[in-house]
Amino acid sequence: KKIIETHNISKRYIMGEEVIEALKSVTISVNKGEYVAFMGPSGSGKSTLMNIIGCLDTPTNGTYILNNKDVSDMSDNELAEIRNKEIGFVFQTFNLLPRLSSLENVALPLIYAGFNKSDRTEKALEALRSVGLGERYKHKPNELSGGQRQRVAVARALVNDPSILLADEPTGNLDTKTSYEIMDLFEELHSKGNTIIMVTHEEDIARYAHRIVRLRDGLIETDIINTEIRKAR
Ligand code: ADP
Ligand code: ADP
Repeated sequence: KKIIETHNISKRYIMGEEVIEALKSVTISVNKGEYVAFMGPSGSGKSTLMNIIGCLDTPTNGTYILNNKDVSDMSDNELAEIRNKEIGFVFQTFNLLPRLSSLENVALPLIYAGFNKSDRTEKALEALRSVGLGERYKHKPNELSGGQRQRVAVARALVNDPSILLADEPTGNLDTKTSYEIMDLFEELHSKGNTIIMVTHEEDIARYAHRIVRLRDGLIETDIINTEIRKAR
């Protein structure tokens, strides 16, 4: 079942006199349960494509169908609603609120989704357990290691049960060993049926994904099934 389908999407930025074609014509589909890595040099359009897929932005031309819904021309409010429901984001810099505990950080998206306090606590605890941090629910970000912070961020991304997990350089701020631990977690999430798309410029990290899409100059250069998936050590 297709969860993401783009048809010839382009993105143009106007910077004064200059026109930047960040994406020229990108057609790609991703099925439910796939685990995809986007690679490519700086400026190749990875962030632009992720922003469109994540409903943070809309394409200049072309269509984007997310979960059978055409989101190409939606208003900002409509996009925000779709985003909260369908997408879980993980960033390089974790983006956790420093004054809140792990539990409170993970529970935040559930406030917007309208859950009452006891449901929020229950769901957030369950999400923390699913990333192996059930015991650390009271800890604040500065009382956790980098890898643990990223796990909290993954739990927050998943607490709403989104259709897609979008991870932008999820290991960019982690040492090698911790990066592999996060990749092991992603493999586990993938095996449970989660759809994962991550951007990385590290070959070693991309090798964990089951499909590798390379962008260059706003176009897909290659799109291959990874036959040598790297596994937990
Ligand atoms: P990456 O995704 O490669 O880690 P960024 O997305 O931050 O890095 O930036 C990639 C390129 O896009 C950089 O050259 C940056 O200057 C440019 N860029 C990103 N955002 C903007 C913006 N708002 N205005 C102009 N250029 C931008
Ligand atoms: P990547 O993530 O692969 O580094 P980006 O999608 O950030 O690539 O950028 C693709 C191209 O679009 C680059 O030339 C970048 O400078 C430009 N760009 C990205 N965001 C903006 C923006 N908000 N305004 C103007 N130019 C941008």
